[in-house]
Amino acid sequence: MSADAPLLVVEDLTVSFRGDEGLVQAVGGVSFTVKQREIVGVVGESGSGKSQTLLAIMGLIDSPRAVVSGSIRFMGQELIGLNRQALDAIRGRQIAMIFQDPMSALTPVHTIGNQIGEQVRAHEKVSARAARARAVQLLDAVGIANPGRVVDGYPHQLSGGMRQRAVIAMALSCNPVLLVADEPTTALDVTVQAQILELIGRLRDEFGSAVILVTHDLGVVAEVADQVLVMYGGRIVEEGGKGSVFRTPLHPYTWGLFGSIAPMEGERPARLAAIPGAPPSLSNLPTGCAFGPRCAYHHDDCLVRPPLVGAGGHRAACVLPETKRRHLKIQKAAGLEMQQ
Ligand code: ADP
Ligand code: MG
Repeated sequence: MSADAPLLVVEDLTVSFRGDEGLVQAVGGVSFTVKQREIVGVVGESGSGKSQTLLAIMGLIDSPRAVVSGSIRFMGQELIGLNRQALDAIRGRQIAMIFQDPMSALTPVHTIGNQIGEQVRAHEKVSARAARARAVQLLDAVGIANPGRVVDGYPHQLSGGMRQRAVIAMALSCNPVLLVADEPTTALDVTVQAQILELIGRLRDEFGSAVILVTHDLGVVAEVADQVLVMYGGRIVEEGGKGSVFRTPLHPYTWGLFGSIAPMEGERPARLAAIPGAPPSLSNLPTGCAFGPRCAYHHDDCLVRPPLVGAGGHRAACVLPETKRRHLKIQKAAGLEMQQ
Protein backbone atom coordinates (compact mmCIF):
# COMPACT_ATOMS: atom_id res chain seq x y z
CA MET A 1 0.00 0.00 0.00
CA SER A 2 1.47 3.35 -1.00
CA ALA A 3 2.10 5.85 1.77
CA ASP A 4 -0.61 8.23 0.67
CA ALA A 5 -3.32 5.65 -0.14
CA PRO A 6 -6.27 6.05 2.24
CA LEU A 7 -6.44 3.45 4.96
CA LEU A 8 -10.19 3.33 5.29
CA VAL A 9 -12.81 4.46 2.82
CA VAL A 10 -16.40 4.37 4.02
CA GLU A 11 -19.00 5.03 1.35
CA ASP A 12 -22.70 5.47 1.83
CA LEU A 13 -22.76 3.26 4.90
CA THR A 14 -26.20 2.53 6.26
CA VAL A 15 -27.11 0.47 9.30
CA SER A 16 -30.80 -0.23 9.81
CA PHE A 17 -32.69 -2.36 12.28
CA ARG A 18 -35.95 -4.08 11.48
CA GLY A 19 -38.25 -3.41 14.38
CA ASP A 20 -41.90 -3.54 15.35
CA GLU A 21 -42.29 0.06 14.26
CA GLY A 22 -40.62 -0.51 10.91
CA LEU A 23 -37.08 0.18 9.87
CA VAL A 24 -34.93 2.26 12.22
CA GLN A 25 -32.04 3.77 10.35
CA ALA A 26 -29.23 4.17 12.88
CA VAL A 27 -26.72 5.18 10.22
CA GLY A 28 -28.17 6.82 7.16
CA GLY A 29 -25.59 7.00 4.40
CA VAL A 30 -22.27 7.99 5.93
CA SER A 31 -19.12 8.52 3.85
CA PHE A 32 -15.67 9.41 5.08
CA THR A 33 -12.02 8.56 4.65
CA VAL A 34 -9.30 7.89 7.17
CA LYS A 35 -5.76 8.37 6.00
CA GLN A 36 -2.79 6.51 7.36
CA ARG A 37 -1.68 7.86 10.75
CA GLU A 38 -4.61 10.25 10.83
CA ILE A 39 -6.73 10.92 13.93
CA VAL A 40 -10.38 11.39 13.14
CA GLY A 41 -12.52 12.74 15.98
CA VAL A 42 -16.24 11.91 15.87
CA VAL A 43 -18.67 14.00 17.90
CA GLY A 44 -22.41 14.19 18.21
CA GLU A 45 -25.12 13.69 20.77
CA SER A 46 -26.00 10.30 22.03
CA GLY A 47 -28.04 8.29 19.52
CA SER A 48 -26.50 9.95 16.47
CA GLY A 49 -25.10 6.69 15.09
CA LYS A 50 -21.47 6.98 16.17
CA SER A 51 -21.19 3.56 17.78
CA GLN A 52 -23.09 1.79 15.02
CA THR A 53 -20.72 3.32 12.47
CA LEU A 54 -17.71 2.01 14.40
CA LEU A 55 -19.28 -1.40 14.98
CA ALA A 56 -20.02 -1.69 11.26
CA ILE A 57 -16.37 -0.99 10.52
CA MET A 58 -15.39 -3.70 12.98
CA GLY A 59 -17.92 -6.12 11.49
CA LEU A 60 -19.43 -6.41 14.94
CA ILE A 61 -23.06 -5.76 14.11
CA ASP A 62 -24.46 -9.22 14.47
CA SER A 63 -28.10 -8.58 15.27
CA PRO A 64 -30.33 -10.67 12.98
CA ARG A 65 -32.49 -7.55 12.68
CA ALA A 66 -29.65 -5.44 11.34
CA VAL A 67 -29.15 -4.59 7.69
CA VAL A 68 -25.81 -3.08 6.73
CA SER A 69 -25.22 -1.64 3.27
CA GLY A 70 -22.72 0.55 1.49
CA SER A 71 -19.01 0.02 1.31
CA ILE A 72 -16.20 -0.11 3.87
CA ARG A 73 -12.83 -0.58 2.22
CA PHE A 74 -9.89 -1.15 4.50
CA MET A 75 -6.50 -1.08 2.78
CA GLY A 76 -8.32 -1.70 -0.45
CA GLN A 77 -10.32 -4.68 0.83
CA GLU A 78 -14.10 -4.56 1.07
CA LEU A 79 -15.21 -5.47 4.59
CA ILE A 80 -18.96 -5.56 4.10
CA GLY A 81 -20.01 -9.10 3.36
CA LEU A 82 -16.60 -10.50 4.26
CA ASN A 83 -16.77 -13.91 5.91
CA ARG A 84 -16.09 -14.40 9.59
CA GLN A 85 -12.68 -15.95 9.13
CA ALA A 86 -11.41 -13.17 6.90
CA LEU A 87 -12.81 -10.57 9.28
CA ASP A 88 -11.13 -12.22 12.24
CA ALA A 89 -7.84 -11.96 10.41
CA ILE A 90 -8.28 -8.19 10.27
CA ARG A 91 -10.03 -7.54 13.55
CA GLY A 92 -7.75 -7.40 16.52
CA ARG A 93 -4.78 -7.45 14.19
CA GLN A 94 -4.87 -4.61 11.73
CA ILE A 95 -7.86 -2.92 13.34
CA ALA A 96 -8.24 -2.87 17.11
CA MET A 97 -11.10 -1.44 19.09
CA ILE A 98 -11.28 0.10 22.54
CA PHE A 99 -14.66 0.30 24.22
CA GLN A 100 -16.12 2.56 26.85
CA ASP A 101 -15.91 0.06 29.67
CA PRO A 102 -12.44 -1.44 30.10
CA MET A 103 -13.86 -4.36 32.09
CA SER A 104 -15.68 -5.57 28.99
CA ALA A 105 -12.30 -6.25 27.38
CA LEU A 106 -10.62 -7.81 30.41
CA THR A 107 -11.12 -11.17 32.05
CA PRO A 108 -11.18 -10.91 35.84
CA VAL A 109 -9.54 -14.28 36.46
CA HIS A 110 -6.34 -13.79 34.47
CA THR A 111 -3.42 -11.51 35.16
CA ILE A 112 -2.98 -8.43 33.00
CA GLY A 113 0.26 -9.89 31.68
CA ASN A 114 -1.39 -13.15 30.63
CA GLN A 115 -4.14 -11.31 28.82
CA ILE A 116 -1.80 -9.04 26.91
CA GLY A 117 0.62 -11.89 26.36
CA GLU A 118 -2.14 -14.03 24.92
CA GLN A 119 -2.95 -11.30 22.42
CA VAL A 120 0.69 -11.00 21.48
CA ARG A 121 0.96 -14.74 20.93
CA ALA A 122 -2.21 -14.83 18.89
CA HIS A 123 -0.39 -12.80 16.28
CA GLU A 124 3.25 -13.63 16.68
CA LYS A 125 5.04 -16.90 17.30
CA VAL A 126 6.95 -15.99 20.43
CA SER A 127 7.69 -17.74 23.71
CA ALA A 128 5.57 -17.07 26.79
CA ARG A 129 8.54 -15.29 28.28
CA ALA A 130 8.97 -13.01 25.29
CA ALA A 131 5.23 -12.29 25.32
CA ARG A 132 5.43 -11.30 28.96
CA ALA A 133 8.37 -9.02 28.26
CA ARG A 134 6.37 -7.45 25.45
CA ALA A 135 3.43 -6.97 27.83
CA VAL A 136 5.68 -5.12 30.27
CA GLN A 137 6.96 -2.97 27.42
CA LEU A 138 3.43 -2.16 26.28
CA LEU A 139 2.25 -1.34 29.80
CA ASP A 140 5.19 1.00 30.10
CA ALA A 141 4.36 2.58 26.73
CA VAL A 142 0.84 3.40 27.85
CA GLY A 143 2.11 5.13 30.96
CA ILE A 144 1.59 2.49 33.63
CA ALA A 145 4.03 2.99 36.48
CA ASN A 146 5.68 -0.17 37.74
CA PRO A 147 4.81 -2.25 34.68
CA GLY A 148 6.94 -5.11 35.97
CA ARG A 149 4.60 -5.46 38.92
CA VAL A 150 1.31 -4.59 37.25
CA VAL A 151 1.92 -7.28 34.64
CA ASP A 152 1.31 -9.92 37.31
CA GLY A 153 -1.69 -8.14 38.80
CA TYR A 154 -5.38 -8.78 38.15
CA PRO A 155 -7.79 -6.25 36.63
CA HIS A 156 -9.59 -5.60 39.94
CA GLN A 157 -6.31 -4.48 41.48
CA LEU A 158 -6.12 -1.57 39.04
CA SER A 159 -7.97 1.73 39.05
CA GLY A 160 -10.39 2.41 36.19
CA GLY A 161 -7.86 4.62 34.43
CA MET A 162 -5.12 2.01 34.74
CA ARG A 163 -7.46 -0.66 33.43
CA GLN A 164 -8.23 1.40 30.38
CA ARG A 165 -4.50 1.89 29.84
CA ALA A 166 -4.07 -1.88 30.07
CA VAL A 167 -6.82 -2.35 27.49
CA ILE A 168 -5.09 0.11 25.20
CA ALA A 169 -1.84 -1.81 25.70
CA MET A 170 -3.73 -4.95 24.70
CA ALA A 171 -5.13 -3.25 21.61
CA LEU A 172 -1.64 -2.12 20.66
CA SER A 173 -0.14 -5.56 21.10
CA CYS A 174 -0.77 -6.37 17.47
CA ASN A 175 0.49 -3.03 16.16
CA PRO A 176 -2.85 -2.12 14.58
CA VAL A 177 -2.78 0.28 11.66
CA LEU A 178 -6.19 1.49 12.79
CA LEU A 179 -7.37 1.95 16.34
CA VAL A 180 -11.06 2.53 16.87
CA ALA A 181 -12.01 4.02 20.24
CA ASP A 182 -15.63 4.46 21.27
CA GLU A 183 -15.89 6.94 24.14
CA PRO A 184 -12.96 5.26 25.82
CA THR A 185 -13.07 7.53 28.84
CA THR A 186 -16.74 7.91 29.68
CA ALA A 187 -16.45 5.56 32.64
CA LEU A 188 -13.48 7.42 34.09
CA ASP A 189 -13.11 10.54 36.16
CA VAL A 190 -12.24 13.80 34.49
CA THR A 191 -8.50 14.09 35.11
CA VAL A 192 -7.94 10.48 34.09
CA GLN A 193 -10.07 11.05 30.98
CA ALA A 194 -7.73 13.78 29.85
CA GLN A 195 -4.68 11.59 30.37
CA ILE A 196 -6.12 8.67 28.45
CA LEU A 197 -7.17 10.84 25.56
CA GLU A 198 -3.79 12.47 25.46
CA LEU A 199 -2.30 9.00 25.40
CA ILE A 200 -4.42 8.05 22.42
CA GLY A 201 -3.15 11.14 20.68
CA ARG A 202 0.41 10.11 21.37
CA LEU A 203 -0.06 6.61 20.03
CA ARG A 204 -0.15 7.83 16.50
CA ASP A 205 3.37 9.17 16.91
CA GLU A 206 4.74 6.16 18.73
CA PHE A 207 2.87 3.31 17.07
CA GLY A 208 1.97 4.91 13.77
CA SER A 209 -1.70 3.93 14.15
CA ALA A 210 -4.52 5.91 12.63
CA VAL A 211 -7.28 6.49 15.17
CA ILE A 212 -11.02 6.99 14.97
CA LEU A 213 -11.95 8.53 18.28
CA VAL A 214 -15.53 9.00 19.42
CA THR A 215 -15.60 11.30 22.41
CA HIS A 216 -17.69 13.83 24.24
CA ASP A 217 -14.62 15.83 25.02
CA LEU A 218 -14.38 18.53 22.40
CA GLY A 219 -11.25 19.88 24.04
CA VAL A 220 -9.50 16.63 23.22
CA VAL A 221 -10.77 16.62 19.68
CA ALA A 222 -9.40 20.15 19.36
CA GLU A 223 -6.12 18.90 20.76
CA VAL A 224 -5.47 15.60 19.04
CA ALA A 225 -7.69 15.19 15.98
CA ASP A 226 -6.69 15.97 12.42
CA GLN A 227 -10.18 15.61 11.01
CA VAL A 228 -13.52 16.11 12.71
CA LEU A 229 -16.82 14.44 11.85
CA VAL A 230 -19.99 15.82 13.40
CA MET A 231 -22.89 13.36 13.37
CA TYR A 232 -26.58 14.02 13.78
CA GLY A 233 -29.52 11.70 13.22
CA GLY A 234 -27.31 8.99 11.72
CA ARG A 235 -25.59 11.26 9.24
CA ILE A 236 -22.52 13.41 9.00
CA VAL A 237 -23.69 17.02 9.11
CA GLU A 238 -20.25 18.61 9.11
CA GLU A 239 -16.75 17.40 8.41
CA GLY A 240 -13.40 18.99 7.89
CA GLY A 241 -9.93 19.62 9.15
CA LYS A 242 -9.87 20.32 12.87
CA GLY A 243 -8.61 23.88 12.52
CA SER A 244 -11.24 24.78 10.02
CA VAL A 245 -14.14 23.17 11.88
CA PHE A 246 -13.18 24.73 15.20
CA ARG A 247 -12.42 28.17 13.77
CA THR A 248 -15.38 28.41 11.48
CA PRO A 249 -17.98 25.76 12.16
CA LEU A 250 -20.59 25.89 9.42
CA HIS A 251 -23.54 23.90 10.71
CA PRO A 252 -25.95 25.33 13.31
CA TYR A 253 -25.84 21.95 15.05
CA THR A 254 -22.08 22.27 15.40
CA TRP A 255 -22.57 25.79 16.78
CA GLY A 256 -24.89 24.28 19.33
CA LEU A 257 -22.41 21.55 20.23
CA PHE A 258 -19.65 24.08 20.59
CA GLY A 259 -21.85 25.95 22.99
CA SER A 260 -21.97 29.24 21.19
CA ILE A 261 -23.19 30.62 17.93
CA ALA A 262 -20.49 30.89 15.31
CA PRO A 263 -17.58 30.68 17.77
CA MET A 264 -14.68 33.00 17.26
CA GLU A 265 -11.11 31.90 16.93
CA GLY A 266 -9.46 30.77 20.13
CA GLU A 267 -12.62 29.67 21.88
CA ARG A 268 -12.48 26.06 22.81
CA PRO A 269 -15.41 24.52 24.59
CA ALA A 270 -14.48 21.55 26.73
CA ARG A 271 -17.61 19.47 26.49
CA LEU A 272 -20.68 19.17 24.37
CA ALA A 273 -23.16 21.83 25.31
CA ALA A 274 -26.77 20.90 25.81
CA ILE A 275 -28.84 21.90 22.82
CA PRO A 276 -32.49 22.73 23.41
CA GLY A 277 -34.87 20.06 22.19
CA ALA A 278 -34.31 16.33 21.77
CA PRO A 279 -32.48 14.34 19.10
CA PRO A 280 -34.83 13.03 16.40
CA SER A 281 -36.48 9.64 16.44
CA LEU A 282 -34.58 7.53 13.94
CA SER A 283 -37.67 5.61 12.93
CA ASN A 284 -39.32 8.87 11.99
CA LEU A 285 -36.71 11.40 10.90
CA PRO A 286 -37.98 14.88 10.03
CA THR A 287 -38.25 15.60 6.32
CA GLY A 288 -35.22 17.38 4.93
CA CYS A 289 -32.65 18.50 7.45
CA ALA A 290 -33.01 16.29 10.54
CA PHE A 291 -31.83 19.16 12.73
CA GLY A 292 -34.50 21.47 11.31
CA PRO A 293 -37.00 21.27 14.18
CA ARG A 294 -34.30 22.31 16.66
CA CYS A 295 -32.63 24.90 14.47
CA ALA A 296 -33.07 28.63 15.06
CA TYR A 297 -32.42 29.31 11.36
CA HIS A 298 -34.86 26.78 9.97
CA HIS A 299 -36.53 27.94 6.76
CA ASP A 300 -38.41 26.46 3.82
CA ASP A 301 -35.28 25.39 1.96
CA CYS A 302 -34.45 23.09 4.86
CA LEU A 303 -37.36 20.80 3.99
CA VAL A 304 -35.22 19.19 1.32
CA ARG A 305 -32.38 17.11 2.69
CA PRO A 306 -29.30 19.32 2.38
CA PRO A 307 -26.25 17.81 0.69
CA LEU A 308 -22.86 17.83 2.38
CA VAL A 309 -21.04 20.58 0.49
CA GLY A 310 -18.16 22.97 0.94
CA ALA A 311 -14.68 23.87 -0.17
CA GLY A 312 -11.23 22.75 0.94
CA GLY A 313 -12.43 19.52 2.53
CA HIS A 314 -14.63 21.41 4.99
CA ARG A 315 -18.21 20.50 4.25
CA ALA A 316 -21.55 20.93 5.93
CA ALA A 317 -25.07 19.76 5.23
CA CYS A 318 -26.74 23.13 5.70
CA VAL A 319 -28.37 25.48 3.25
CA LEU A 320 -27.99 28.61 5.37
CA PRO A 321 -26.66 31.20 2.91
CA GLU A 322 -23.06 32.26 3.40
CA THR A 323 -24.11 35.92 3.75
CA LYS A 324 -26.40 35.03 6.64
CA ARG A 325 -23.65 33.00 8.25
CA ARG A 326 -21.22 35.91 8.01
CA HIS A 327 -23.81 38.27 9.35
CA LEU A 328 -24.32 36.05 12.41
CA LYS A 329 -20.62 35.97 12.98
CA ILE A 330 -20.31 39.76 12.85
CA GLN A 331 -23.20 40.11 15.27
CA LYS A 332 -21.57 37.69 17.63
CA ALA A 333 -18.22 39.48 17.38
CA ALA A 334 -19.97 42.73 18.22
CA GLY A 335 -21.55 41.05 21.23
CA LEU A 336 -25.06 41.66 19.94
CA GLU A 337 -27.96 39.49 20.91
CA MET A 338 -28.79 36.96 18.25
CA GLN A 339 -31.78 37.76 16.15
CA GLN A 340 -33.45 35.35 13.83
P1 ADP B 1 -24.35 6.85 19.50
O1 ADP B 1 -23.17 5.94 19.62
O2 ADP B 1 -24.08 8.01 18.62
O3 ADP B 1 -24.88 7.26 20.83
P2 ADP B 1 -25.57 4.52 18.38
O4 ADP B 1 -24.77 4.30 17.16
O5 ADP B 1 -25.28 3.66 19.54
O6 ADP B 1 -25.51 6.06 18.79
O7 ADP B 1 -27.09 4.28 18.08
C1 ADP B 1 -27.79 4.96 17.11
C2 ADP B 1 -29.19 4.47 17.16
O8 ADP B 1 -29.24 3.14 16.68
C3 ADP B 1 -29.81 4.39 18.53
O9 ADP B 1 -30.44 5.58 18.86
C4 ADP B 1 -30.82 3.29 18.39
O10 ADP B 1 -32.08 3.84 18.05
C5 ADP B 1 -30.35 2.50 17.22
N1 ADP B 1 -29.97 1.13 17.58
C6 ADP B 1 -28.78 0.72 18.02
N2 ADP B 1 -28.78 -0.60 18.23
C7 ADP B 1 -30.00 -1.05 17.92
C8 ADP B 1 -30.64 -2.33 17.91
N3 ADP B 1 -30.00 -3.44 18.26
N4 ADP B 1 -31.93 -2.37 17.52
C9 ADP B 1 -32.59 -1.27 17.14
N5 ADP B 1 -32.05 -0.04 17.11
C10 ADP B 1 -30.79 0.08 17.49
MG1 MG C 1 -22.22 5.28 21.32
